[in-house]
Amino acid sequence: MTVKAKKHLGQHFLNDESIAEKIADSLSLKGYNHVLEIGPGMGVLTKYLLKKKTTTHVIEIDSESVEYLQANYLNLADRIIEKDFLKYDLNEVFNGESFAIIGNFPYNISSQILFKTLEMRNQIPEFSGMFQKEVALRICSKEGSKVYGILSVLTQAFYDAEYLFTVPPNVFNPPPKVDSGVLLLTRKENYTLPCDESLFFRVVKTGFQQRRKTLRNSLKTFNLSDNLKANVIFDKRPEQLSVKEFITLTQLIEKDA
Ligand code: SAH
Repeated sequence: MTVKAKKHLGQHFLNDESIAEKIADSLSLKGYNHVLEIGPGMGVLTKYLLKKKTTTHVIEIDSESVEYLQANYLNLADRIIEKDFLKYDLNEVFNGESFAIIGNFPYNISSQILFKTLEMRNQIPEFSGMFQKEVALRICSKEGSKVYGILSVLTQAFYDAEYLFTVPPNVFNPPPKVDSGVLLLTRKENYTLPCDESLFFRVVKTGFQQRRKTLRNSLKTFNLSDNLKANVIFDKRPEQLSVKEFITLTQLIEKDA
């Protein structure tokens, strides 16, 4: 028995064992005891994770895949969560403990997976995942790059982002239309920002809503004082600001109240 790939669930099953092993080996396994795999499908990655000293949990929305896992990975049985990752309260399982995230993600929700990870950053020291190559590169990109954006700034504020390797379409069944890329995020030692964090998220998101405009224009809704708006930082466009400068900008806005 195998699982029939369902398009609406973003199912592209990896059929290259050495790539699966390489992804599983990308986690350092340091500083936590649990790993959560998102979207295990038929378990190609899972079987390598199960060999590790950490405890592997999986979350899978597709009941047919869950049935397959239950039949083929007997020692995983009580750590299979049949839920939508985006909607499930992970603390029902992890209860405040730290865990790493790993997966060959369904590409239609990969950005949302990353946003949920950022929200739960206090519990997620490490994250390794396969994205569309273009999205993986965007997450790792630096200021000045055309693809630098919300995902890059918010991720790199809390994590060091490293692009690991590219995976071609022909190792999947069915093959996707584009290349994939594996990305490793390692939480920074000090991941508390020296500014109001929710304001930081708002500044970054609002700034990039109109990426061609200067910040003076795009941040109009913040009702900033003329005095503050005279600061040269507002002459810049969002893609020119490093993470550090976004923090400085947030601090300036905070003080402007
Ligand atoms: N890891 C497997 C499958 C990757 S395909 C492999 O590499 O072969 C993506 C997987 O994510 C599918 O099994 C799909 O059912 C699952 N998935 C899709 N949306 C999901 C969601 N919201 N929550 C959990 N799993 C999901």
